[in-house]
Parts: sequence; structure tokens; C-alpha cells
Amino acid sequence: MTDDFDESWGTATRGVRAGTHRTPEGEHSNAIYMTSSFVFESAEECAERFAGDAPGNIYSRFTNPTVDAFSKRLAAMEGGECCVATASGMSAILATCLATLEAGDHIVAAHTLFGSTIGMFNNYLSKLGMTTSYVPPEDVEAWKAAITPATRMLFVETPSNPLTEIVDMAALAEIANDNDALLVVDNCFCTPALQRPLDFGAHVVTHSATKFLDGQGRALGGAVVGDADIVGDKVFRFLRTCGPTMSPFNAWVFYKALETLEVRMQAHCRSAQRVAEWLDDQPGVEHVYYPGLASHAQHELAARQQPGGFGSVLSLRVAGGREAAFKLINSTKMLSITANLGDTRTTIVHPASTTHARISAEDRARAGITDGVIRISVGLENVEDIIADLARGLE
Ligand SMILES: *Cc1c(COP(=O)(O)O)cnc(C)c1O
Repeated sequence: MTDDFDESWGTATRGVRAGTHRTPEGEHSNAIYMTSSFVFESAEECAERFAGDAPGNIYSRFTNPTVDAFSKRLAAMEGGECCVATASGMSAILATCLATLEAGDHIVAAHTLFGSTIGMFNNYLSKLGMTTSYVPPEDVEAWKAAITPATRMLFVETPSNPLTEIVDMAALAEIANDNDALLVVDNCFCTPALQRPLDFGAHVVTHSATKFLDGQGRALGGAVVGDADIVGDKVFRFLRTCGPTMSPFNAWVFYKALETLEVRMQAHCRSAQRVAEWLDDQPGVEHVYYPGLASHAQHELAARQQPGGFGSVLSLRVAGGREAAFKLINSTKMLSITANLGDTRTTIVHPASTTHARISAEDRARAGITDGVIRISVGLENVEDIIADLARGLE
């Protein structure tokens, strides 16, 4: 068995090499351990493992070599001490909140968060006495103003969905540290190939592995990355007891997908930049939202925080509102009309009537998610084919 990971390695090398687990069979690619439990040589050994006095596997709700290999690899890529893998992105967020917050605690969150995250905060954490205030993601003063003596967590995604606003993570980390709160960053849109929030002072990173980490639309999973106290102890103990566990099969799928993460993300970014620049020149397109455009209000902050690239997700606003937006979406033949993202296949969606439909029209207008806005997650097809498909709808 080897467990080789060198601090000097770059992110791509960590994605290919970290978390290698080799049995006496000498397999080059990690084996999958599909087993619910593990057996012991003696009652004494069994007792020692359960007591935590001896290392080793016990039961796959909280110890499994395949899940462990994925966790070690992702932790190495994010630059975190520990990683806990979960059944989905939502359970990663739930595990983080329930492991670190108590009744009476307050969260400050970006108002542009993934819809189910807002639903979890408003409909479920609220039942446990945890309250949430929402602020515009890019407005550092608004984050400061929303802090109360009970605030214990700041929760963000950057870039935001769908308008790609950039959150200044170092500024928010400072606010969190001044107020005894955790900065939690959902790094789903960027992945560690583009952005490592822990480098900017974030305390915890959450992932929906379902999106770019797999990148091929095959499996559901999530992860929480951070230090030994918060993640290695608190989040791990929550997982061990409450059980939103990643299956070993899915862990193997994600573990293998991490080997190509960096090259996939670079290709996503290259094509997204081309599509954004092309859209920017089209009559009928009023605005393109993409951090890689020099016209983006936070282009420089994005370049600093996302050294690996500006991402796959962009939005555009067409003249003519919902009717024109639907016409463009319906005119495409190759793109997938779906709210999902982070796939080899380019996806296109109308946020105001889908992903952001549950927000009131007033809040949507305030956030700039008007009826003419369309979101695209640029995939890995030839970029000329993506542009040709979009051109049909803009004619
Ligand atoms: C999809 C998504 C999630 C939820 O992940 P699941 O794996 O679907 O549970 C959380 N955050 C963001 C930003 C997402 O896009």
C-alpha cells in the first residue's frame, strides 16, 4: 500500500497521484471496495478499532478505502487537511451546518446561492432555530452590516449563479475571523483546478461532486474540505452518526474523474471565453456576464482569485425579454436544455422560469435576473459547433 502525496506537487499532479491505494495485487488504478462492513482477527482488535485506539476500517458508513482515496485526493487538490465525502452536494452543506452550528446561531449568505441551499436554510435550518440573512454577494459593506452577535457562518458561492458576480473571499474571511464565524465557500463552479478558497482564508469548502468534479453527468456526490478540527472531527462525527455517506462506487467514479479535472476545466474555460467574446459582438445581445471579459466589473478580482481560469458558466441578456430568450433556447439543436451544469455537454437554461423561479419577481429584479437572461454552461464539444448552435437562435 502506498499513500503518496508530496507538498511540492501542483494541482494536476495531486489530481492524478494523490490518494493512490495499492493492494498486494499491484493494480495501477485503484480497486473499488464494495463492502458494507469489515472483519477483524479477534474481539480485541474489533474493540480497539471501535474505541478509536487502532486505525483501520470498521463500517462503510464512515470508513471505506475507496471513499477515503477520493477524499484524500480532493483534500490534496484543495490544499485542506481533511475531507469528508457525502452522498450529494446538499448533504455536504447540511453536514457542515449541523456539525458546526447550534440553535440560535445566525448565517449571512449571498442571496444568489443555489436554490436548494436557500431552501435548506429557510425551511429546515430555521426549524432548528438557525436564522439566515441574505446580501448581494459582491457588496462587502452589506456583509459587514448583516453581521449580528449571533452570526457564526458566512456562506457564499463565487462566481455567483447566474450573473457571475465575484465575492472577495479574503475580505469575507477577515469579517468572519473578526466575528468568530466560519467562512464557507461552495466551490462547485470553479473546483480546485481554478480556485482554492482555503488559500484566501476560507475555513471550509463544500462541493457538489455531481457537477464539474465528475464533469460527465454520471453520479451524485458531495464533499466538505477543511482543517482537522472542523472537518476531520466535527463533520466526520456528524457523518459517522447521521450517515449521508458517499457510495464506494460513486467515490471511484469521482476519484478517476479528478485525474482529468485540470485539463477538462482548462478546455471549459477556453471555450467559454470564446463563446462569451462571440456573444458580446452579437446584435440582440444586450449584455454578457462572464468574469473573463475585460468589461466584467470584477475582472481583476476574478483573475486574482481564480488563477486557473474564469470558469465554464456564463450568462447573456437578450433584448426582447422572455419571448426572445425562449426563442433562442428553442432554436438550439445540439445544446441540452437543462438546469444542470458542469457537464461535457453544453447546457442552456432560462433562470427566471427555472432555477430562480421560486424567488419573488421583485427579488429577481433586484438581483438582475431579468426575463431576458439565459445561462450557459459551456461544455467540451468543438467550440465552433456551440457557437453555430447559438447563432441559429440569434438570427
Ligand atoms: C448542484 C449544486 C449543489 C447541490 O449539489 P447536489 O449534488 O445536486 O446535491 C450545491 N451547490 C451548487 C452551487 C450546485 O450547483
